[in-house]
Amino acid sequence: MSNVPKKRKIRRGDIRVSNPDKLIVKATIGQYRVIDTPPILKAVCTTVEPGEDVAYMIRTMYQALMATKNGVGLAANQVGYNKRIIIILVDGFYQVMINPVIIDKSEDMISSEEGCLSFPGIGKDIERHRWVKVEWMSQSGHVSREMFGQSGDAARRVQHEIDHLDGNCLVSEGKRV
Ligand SMILES: [Zn+2]
Repeated sequence: MSNVPKKRKIRRGDIRVSNPDKLIVKATIGQYRVIDTPPILKAVCTTVEPGEDVAYMIRTMYQALMATKNGVGLAANQVGYNKRIIIILVDGFYQVMINPVIIDKSEDMISSEEGCLSFPGIGKDIERHRWVKVEWMSQSGHVSREMFGQSGDAARRVQHEIDHLDGNCLVSEGKRV
């Protein structure tokens, strides 16, 4: 996920990674129009099995996020891996979540504009649960449960990225900003 920059044009080279082939960006540079959603962004990602080596995937995801100016979250399929791994920015730190599952959520919804690193220059108002409780596994196999949504936009970020893992990206149908 990205914070939506206001009144900003897409520029060639907005997103750079050490291996550019790994970052999926499908926007028509200069025309502000998404031409296609890559199949991997529409597919449901597979669960990471215990002991499965996903360190190289997480490294690539970090590199991709670090290479952006406004990236606040990324899902593995955005960089070409069909696995249930996300990274989100929480209180200034990047949190890696393997097999994240929303186990509880507020009835209360909040609408706000979202952007997506895979669809630069696109923004869309999207309703999200005000808070969500998420269970996930760390790289070392530790299972955590945490509530997001008491402060900042972490609840929105985690919902956006888990959507990606299920092949959904609502921002892809958004308007140019
Ligand atoms: Zn996204």
